[in-house]
Amino acid sequence: MMKRFFNKMQEGKTVSFVYFLVMAYTIAALVWWGILLFRQSEQIKGFEQQNLYLRVDSLTQPVEHQLELQRINKEEHMRSFKYLGEGIIFLGIILLGAVFVYRAVWKYMKLSRQQQNFMMAVTHELKSPIAVAKLNLETIRKHKLDEETQLKLLNNTIRETNRLDQLCNNILLAAQLETHKYRLFKEPLDFSSLVSGSIKDLDGRIGTHQINAEVMPDIWLEGDKLTLQIIVNNLVENAAKYAPKNTTILVKLFESNKELKLQVIDEGPGIPDEEKGRIFLKFYRVGNENTRNAKGSGLGLFLTAKIVEQHGGSIEVKDNVPVGSCFEITLPEYSIQTA
Ligand code: ADP
Repeated sequence: MMKRFFNKMQEGKTVSFVYFLVMAYTIAALVWWGILLFRQSEQIKGFEQQNLYLRVDSLTQPVEHQLELQRINKEEHMRSFKYLGEGIIFLGIILLGAVFVYRAVWKYMKLSRQQQNFMMAVTHELKSPIAVAKLNLETIRKHKLDEETQLKLLNNTIRETNRLDQLCNNILLAAQLETHKYRLFKEPLDFSSLVSGSIKDLDGRIGTHQINAEVMPDIWLEGDKLTLQIIVNNLVENAAKYAPKNTTILVKLFESNKELKLQVIDEGPGIPDEEKGRIFLKFYRVGNENTRNAKGSGLGLFLTAKIVEQHGGSIEVKDNVPVGSCFEITLPEYSIQTA
């Protein structure tokens, strides 16, 4: 894996080197053609002046000679102006094209690097639950286990298959949202209950962290239930994945300046400032595949941001004080409906 990653880095450097070499050659060739043209123009001027001395005598026809000389000089100036103008336009077009090509190549290389990271992560993510489930089932088949151990192994298998299921859903949903094939089914829903319900589920599943909730009741909005549940799950699961065990995860739903805020706050390592904008990109994971301990595909936050955007909202990540991160979703359209 490490070797493949460095090969990609090396490939990127080679492409950049070759690209700049071709660019430098093209510009040098252009400058050289310019110099040759100017020299040629000087030569033409020299020939024309010699020709003039033969055709018109400067002593007997001084006015005519002077006029011809002026014409030759003017023509030489015009030629220089034309070469310079054309050269500048040509150089401008080359540089503009070069910028476009470089940006396209760079974007392609970046995407291909991220896809490579994604493939490595996903292969691992797909294989490990399958391996665990297989081992658990084989153990149950081979050995006569007591009921409690059997139940433990079965629960573990179900947890792993749930993880597999979630990963497949994330991959499918990301593809569908990108190609606009997933149509949000928006309906008026009790968002406070949705958030509280999701937290209850997550609390049952995540035994490693304390999940606290401060959810403002009776918040209603027009939304797609399934995808809104996904964003709560993704943010809380990330908090549990990246923050140390036995720390607290706080989920807050509240109103601030006539906007609805959903915050998921953890006591984990936080996100460095330079990474804050990138973590919402598809397949993006902080660091590289070999230095990351937590499992993941780099799809969760991309999906979350897409879903929030499709609900007319925005998402950002802030630093939590003293440690950790605070993912904050802002939704502008909602209502408070007390019974
Ligand atoms: P995944 O978790 O599958 O890698 P995500 O898109 O959910 O993908 O997250 C992208 C990256 O953002 C993660 O790889 C991780 O580096 C960083 N990240 C996300 N949530 C947190 C968090 N709560 N604390 C620290 N880092 C986080």
